Amino acid sequence: MSTLSPKVKNTNVNNPNIQIEDDRTGMSKETLKRAFLDHLFYIQGVDRSKASLRDYYVALSYTVRDRLLHRFLKTIETYKKEEVKIVSYFSAEFLMGRQLGNNMVNLGLYNTMKEIIEEMDLDMDDIIEQEPDPGLGNGGLGRLAACFLDSLASLSMPAIGYGIRYEFGIFHQTIQDGWQVEIPDNWLRFENPWEISRPNEAVEIKLGGHTEKTHDDNGNLKSFWVADRTILAIPYDTPVPGYKTNVVNPLRLWKAEASESFNFEAFNAGHYDRAVEEKMGAETISKVLYPNDNTPAGRKLRLEQQYFFVSASLQDLIRIHLRNHDNLDQFPEKVAVQLNDTHPAVAVAELMRLLVDKHDYTWDKAWEITTKTLAYTNHTLMPEALERWPVTIFGELLPRHLEIIYELNYRFLENVRTWFPNDDELVSNISLIEERSEKLIRMANLACLGSHAINGVAALHTELLKQDTLKYFARLWPEKFYNKTNGVTPRRWILLSNPRLSSLITEKIGDGWLKNLDEMRKLEEFVDDAEFRKQWHEIKQANKRDLAAYLLKYRNIEIDPNTMFDIQVKRIHEYKRQHLMVLEIINLYNRMKHDPNGDYVPRTFLFGGKAAPGYFMAKLIIKLVNAVADVVNNDPDVRGRLKVVFMPNFNVSLGQRVYPAADLSEQISTAGKEASGTGNMKFAMNGALTIGTLDGANIEIREEAGAENFFLFGLTAQEVYDRKAQGYSPSDYYHNNGNLKGVIDRISSGYFSHGNCELFQPIVDQLMNDDPYMLMADYQAYVDCQDAVSQAYLDQDNWTRMAILNAARMGKFSSDRTIAEYCEQIWNVEPVEIKIEEYNPNGANN
Ligand SMILES: *Cc1c(COP(=O)(O)O)cnc(C)c1O
Repeated sequence: MSTLSPKVKNTNVNNPNIQIEDDRTGMSKETLKRAFLDHLFYIQGVDRSKASLRDYYVALSYTVRDRLLHRFLKTIETYKKEEVKIVSYFSAEFLMGRQLGNNMVNLGLYNTMKEIIEEMDLDMDDIIEQEPDPGLGNGGLGRLAACFLDSLASLSMPAIGYGIRYEFGIFHQTIQDGWQVEIPDNWLRFENPWEISRPNEAVEIKLGGHTEKTHDDNGNLKSFWVADRTILAIPYDTPVPGYKTNVVNPLRLWKAEASESFNFEAFNAGHYDRAVEEKMGAETISKVLYPNDNTPAGRKLRLEQQYFFVSASLQDLIRIHLRNHDNLDQFPEKVAVQLNDTHPAVAVAELMRLLVDKHDYTWDKAWEITTKTLAYTNHTLMPEALERWPVTIFGELLPRHLEIIYELNYRFLENVRTWFPNDDELVSNISLIEERSEKLIRMANLACLGSHAINGVAALHTELLKQDTLKYFARLWPEKFYNKTNGVTPRRWILLSNPRLSSLITEKIGDGWLKNLDEMRKLEEFVDDAEFRKQWHEIKQANKRDLAAYLLKYRNIEIDPNTMFDIQVKRIHEYKRQHLMVLEIINLYNRMKHDPNGDYVPRTFLFGGKAAPGYFMAKLIIKLVNAVADVVNNDPDVRGRLKVVFMPNFNVSLGQRVYPAADLSEQISTAGKEASGTGNMKFAMNGALTIGTLDGANIEIREEAGAENFFLFGLTAQEVYDRKAQGYSPSDYYHNNGNLKGVIDRISSGYFSHGNCELFQPIVDQLMNDDPYMLMADYQAYVDCQDAVSQAYLDQDNWTRMAILNAARMGKFSSDRTIAEYCEQIWNVEPVEIKIEEYNPNGANN
């Protein structure tokens, strides 16, 4: 073999002696380093003397992206060739978090790249920190979608995520004078190296107008839609790699654009401004994520967003299907569509429209295809959180879909009346239309009717759906109901977030746990090993020091890693009861003031989370946390024993630092209100102990970890229900519990508000008068449980033992388990092997 074998080609003009592999996407250290420097030069146009951290970030991202792309193309080619069934996950939110670190981890080149970076005297964390955190979601629901994509690819399942490419994601939260202030999240200001736009695959979306009736060739009356607006949906694909598989699935997000860049009529008539206005109007559809979590925003633009991405995605799926098939008869055998909550529920009507109006299916055949294709995940029990669109708004935007919904409802209710004669209660509750003074379309009912499978996201949640929220559907079709307890990906939430712990685990039990989290059980074997416990404890302390250093560096917040880190991070919501934790803080403060010489376990209470901008009580709770922090942190009587911190702008990146640094995880929602929770899982897998109620997945976490390793308090969902039925009087607790009275009085006296007694009165009034989330009823149990936590923390070695057992027993909460269940029971899809030959840039190897 000569040195000029075709595998080696020298393109370096400066040093003709260097041999460079032709394989420009090779994984060897030399090739990676070469690619990194090339991208710095040829993409960013800088050399090392001029490069900024962001230049390094972009160069590194392209280096990684190149290695994703041929796997990505090969994956898509294989799906097409083998005609496999594909899952498409429809979600208005994907809270992906930063891509660079995760993609390196999943491609298995994190360590090599880190060596290269360090040899160049750079710091990997500094480079990773340059990436804007893509916040295209509000909280748990959007993050679940992201974990599911990771698990689908890691299990080699054919899948596409479909959603919206919001130009502005969830707002950036700052705190000014203790109040939340929202700043727009301009995450696309700089280029996004992870997305590939595909303007050739744009899809037309129609809106507005009216319907007309006509007779088809067979003389049947048909309705068709005469829309008055057309916009374009442009797909942007983000490759989603599996962990150490060759599968790289697309996340396809749609951007709205005007169908013509200009209205030339207006332009030619001299109305340049009006011509441009239309273009801007179309683009508003994908402009911004609605920052509401668990409360619907009844705005027309929101419905436009939902229809926009659903229609684009269904048209895309149909187009893909018709490349290999003559018609859509086999559609449900090749496509499974999962609706993530009711946000994409208009898919029921849209798929019917496409089948009946565009593809000439009969109503009955179209309905069979639709219901076999769609499945629906419910995410909430709270009746006020269920989406309902006024018929007027809906009909203006989607007149044909309104007709379809009326027709579906007519046929459905006819059937219900024959199945259950004279059951008016059933009929009025199961109807797709709520007959109020203003008629409303019930999107959850539409989703249930149009789906072959309906699932809740934790065992309790699914039970309560069947007994309460969706009980009428459960009566009709008990066999349609499934439970799919949520999970999270151990790649992002352990391996990437907690490298120290990951190394220790792998050292002890090998690395099989990353693909099969049940293997973490093997750690139980080491729980009696004092040396192992010491290592575990030291890792927790190091993670706490890291968080402290980060908060000091980036937020100018000082905390002491030698105190207990007691943490609640999640969206701010009354049902999640951040303010119950505040009551406990004030209780401890009062105790320390009364008895300054008592023994106290030093604690740092950390909060993080965003409030919906229009949610008054949630914003007031943030202000209360900060007001209490202000007093407590500046009172020398409690210094070193009690500290309260609100960490601004909680997001996925901050989560990756916070979960591994927690001693205590606060999961204290009113029982029956939190559908599942996933933060609870991330904490526990990283060795935090949980204080929590019997709500959502807490119940299953406690079952797995063992009751003796979980701090349980509070009413059960049944007890909450019964108390309310009996007539709940929260002020009784105030009058009968001097301790609680002291806490409430502190707030209402203006002690935390510079003497202003009005400021927090809305919170006090609510607690005293109706207390819908039962803080008063759970208060004493919570305080007692917190005392037990402090007691347990005194025995650090035993605490570590409990933490190890928690982490070791969280196998169930890998999203791999969740996804494997969906695949088998709901989607009926199977893994696909993607064969990657040596990469050949000149085309396929034949
Ligand atoms: C996991 C996660 C959530 C969900 O937290 P819960 O405690 O389950 O409400 C919300 N936001 C972010 C950024 C997360 O990573």
